[in-house]
Amino acid sequence: MEYYLKCIACGVEYTQRHPYQTCGICGKNLEVMYLEKPRFKKRGKEFWDYEYLLPNAKYRHTELGGTKLIESKDSNLLLKLEMENPTKSFKDRGSVVEIAKAKEYKYKTIVCASTGNMAYSLAYYAKLEGMHARIFIGGSANKHKLRDIREVRDAEIEHVKGDFNKALDLAYRYASRHKAFLAGDYCYRKEGQKTVAYEIMSQAPSATHIIVPVGNATLLSGVHKGLKELKSAGQIGRYPKIIAVQAERCSPLATAFRKKKEIRYKRPGTAADAIAVGYPTFGSQGLDAIRQTSGTVVTVSEREMKREQKEFLKEYGLVAELAGAAGIAAARKLRLRKDDKAVAIVSGGNV
Ligand SMILES: [Zn+2]
Repeated sequence: MEYYLKCIACGVEYTQRHPYQTCGICGKNLEVMYLEKPRFKKRGKEFWDYEYLLPNAKYRHTELGGTKLIESKDSNLLLKLEMENPTKSFKDRGSVVEIAKAKEYKYKTIVCASTGNMAYSLAYYAKLEGMHARIFIGGSANKHKLRDIREVRDAEIEHVKGDFNKALDLAYRYASRHKAFLAGDYCYRKEGQKTVAYEIMSQAPSATHIIVPVGNATLLSGVHKGLKELKSAGQIGRYPKIIAVQAERCSPLATAFRKKKEIRYKRPGTAADAIAVGYPTFGSQGLDAIRQTSGTVVTVSEREMKREQKEFLKEYGLVAELAGAAGIAAARKLRLRKDDKAVAIVSGGNV
């Protein structure tokens, strides 16, 4: 769809030719604004069924999305298996959009900060398009992911002394000094990731809750955007409640939600690397997502995530990373009624 970009902080607008995902005035994130209201021509089950609802670009149609939604042994909990994506996490939905735009703007290098999954996914799609990826890794990223990123995808990795937010600063600086496309948790990624909401509401139209693990809150905000589009097009009636889940040891969004205060940086101390983000980029939009759908934030302990990860493997023979198991752990803490249908997004399986 035709669109323009708008700064979420200062409101400045840019055309689709603006080859950045951040504001040239204040440096904050931009939002993709469509020129017309999204109209759902058809409701499909696969990612590319919704291409016409993504920002205009020449997309490479690789296999993607259309992940299974399975019943769990609790009749009111369904599991969305995002580890079925090519690099085993939901990140692929966003990477494919970002890389298509970076190519359109004629970049040869992309740069990003990552705790692991983002790098894995971006490096995969960058290589498909013949682009070079330079990645700043902060925190305790998984060693196996890193080896694959370096050896299979030929990406350059720079280890950062510090956490994800420190890596983010360095990636931002690198992009402004070199001709590199700053990729990561920005507006184009969010557009790709909103498709998980389309798929869920097509697979489970009666869903009452969608449980979303939160690191940078891009998926959270993307799910909300997808639901808003579905509602404005009359495809769904009521909003399912959006339930954000964070690790107890890294829960800046949960604290802000409970105390009704602004989000403050919290040093990540969780082993769930995919959600170990001390200051979520899409935090304020994430809070909007929760509040506007009468949802809530649930925090889960390291033990609870590990227990669900083990159970999940035993039950389905599938590997979920800790962040992926977090949603299942959160579902146990929600007081679901018998006729509720909760969908937990099992966000990834890179272990
Ligand atoms: Zn701005």
